[in-house]
Amino acid sequence: MDSLIARRLAIVTTTRCTLRCKLCSNFMPMFTEPEDVPYTEIIADIDHAFELFDRVEWLQFVGGEIFMNRCMADVYDYCLKYGGRFDKLVLMTNATLIPSKEELTALSRYGKKLEAQISDYGELSYKIKETCEAYKSAGISFQLKNYHGSAQHFGGWIDNTRFADSGETEAETQKRTAKCSQASNGRNMHILRGRLYRCAVSCFMSELNIIQPDKRDFVDLNDGTVSIDEKRKTAKMFYKHPVQACRRCLWSETDTGKLQRFPAAEQL
Ligand code: SF4
Repeated sequence: MDSLIARRLAIVTTTRCTLRCKLCSNFMPMFTEPEDVPYTEIIADIDHAFELFDRVEWLQFVGGEIFMNRCMADVYDYCLKYGGRFDKLVLMTNATLIPSKEELTALSRYGKKLEAQISDYGELSYKIKETCEAYKSAGISFQLKNYHGSAQHFGGWIDNTRFADSGETEAETQKRTAKCSQASNGRNMHILRGRLYRCAVSCFMSELNIIQPDKRDFVDLNDGTVSIDEKRKTAKMFYKHPVQACRRCLWSETDTGKLQRFPAAEQL
């Protein structure tokens, strides 16, 4: 069988966050009982992911705020065993929590393979100085992304929280979403607690019961009755058809430049 390569693979490790952003692209404030994913489940997700994918270009851990879950130092250490099978470990933080000494030590072991990004939300990112210092003292290089004031990254955020059904036929949805950056070049797959989805929106709309995903829209990584080959086939087909979430998602229109942009991180 052909090899299966993930362009981006994000494993969700927490739905807790220090901020409550109105237009959060992962809809975090809608989780009524946000929680950290336990270490054993994260490890199972990592093992299942590398059972399925031959190679991952960008491996990410996402939330929520990534430094909320304090078991992550052990997770970063564990993940090194697959170090030869992914190109980069990409982490983003909102700079409200300083990474622990254990996390910094574990992350520093990744060297150039680690891409640490800090989103600067101005006053909201009230630990930004300390976060930068902590990274520097651990020898970790990082990128700052500006999300406040007049020169915001990507011009700010979109409002993808209307959830209105497009009323389209499947062919129309396919045409509209075929070039969605999350599906075409980005191929931004997400895993949350044993389920692999084609993108963040499909993942979180499904987990929040905003939509009912079709069977073909996700892979149940914990289902021992389905062979690895079958699971790989489902994942391979992810981008050949639209998913239920596409019907209620505006992400595919971001590249047209017509969608209104809003200041990032406005709080509820
Ligand atoms: S349109 Fe939305 S749901 Fe569909 S692939 Fe793009 S981001 Fe995901």
